[in-house]
Amino acid sequence: SLSSNYYFSTPAFVRSFVKHRSKFSHKGRAGKNLLVAGSHGKLGAAILAGKACLRSGAGLLTIHTPGCGQNVLQNSVPEAMIVVDEHDKLISNMESISAFDVIGIGPGIGTDKLTASAVNQILDQFDKPMVIDADALNILSENNNWVEKIPQGSVLTPHPGEFKRLVGDWSDDYDRLNRQIEFCTKHKVVVLLKGANTSISNPEGIVVFNSTGNPGMATAGSGDVLTGIITALLGQGYSGFEAALLGAHLHGLAGDLFVRKNAEESLIASDLLEYLPRAMRKVV
Ligand code: AMP
Ligand code: MG
Repeated sequence: SLSSNYYFSTPAFVRSFVKHRSKFSHKGRAGKNLLVAGSHGKLGAAILAGKACLRSGAGLLTIHTPGCGQNVLQNSVPEAMIVVDEHDKLISNMESISAFDVIGIGPGIGTDKLTASAVNQILDQFDKPMVIDADALNILSENNNWVEKIPQGSVLTPHPGEFKRLVGDWSDDYDRLNRQIEFCTKHKVVVLLKGANTSISNPEGIVVFNSTGNPGMATAGSGDVLTGIITALLGQGYSGFEAALLGAHLHGLAGDLFVRKNAEESLIASDLLEYLPRAMRKVV
């Protein structure tokens, strides 16, 4: 029965599958990451996801963002290469993307028609695992037949509102979990459904509840940080399920370390970036 497939994530469980960087590693081996993020007025999402990606072990990071993001991104994320879109305010076009190991897409991109067709273009061209978040999920909700193009092993990171748009409304928590499992099985993807008890499910019908995090994390940009973390983990060779489990654990742990000495209410997404290295240290 389904009930035997529910698990609760623990630090020991996460440590059991964590990878350690080899002495002879080089940046090309730690993943060539592409983040597609930001639009006019929402460049912060690209900054947060980009920094989180770098802090989570990404070897190389390129951020594709609108023209207006060039100076902002180069200044705030100097470690990243910035590729600006031909459109000044939104993402409308993608160059060749096959050289990347992983793509994280969605934070702050908006749902403009041009952006939707850029998302479609990526889904047509890319066949390695992706992280699909935020407005990329909303775009999929508006173009349901594109869901079939999501590469196997990808991770979708909806909050309940985004998930509702994707699969329809549920009657209760049990129905919600069943819809989550059904989606994973049907489309061969991992769904990380965010909230106080983030649930992570895979195509085999296994569900793991994340045990870290606190209500302080209900704050703007929190999810963008998670997208960057999971993208970096996929780029380092973790499976979609592992990347989602470890990513959720690290993200919540960063928040928990912050609230040891600070008020939950004061937590902002940038604090998660600050505490992420300490969270990593406890796990790797
Ligand atoms: P987003 O809505 O995309 O910004 O994502 C919010 C992030 O904060 C997700 O990782 C959630 O799991 C986390 N979060 C939101 N509310 C809570 C809560 N009450 N307790 C723990 N984590 C939360
Ligand atoms: Mg979000």
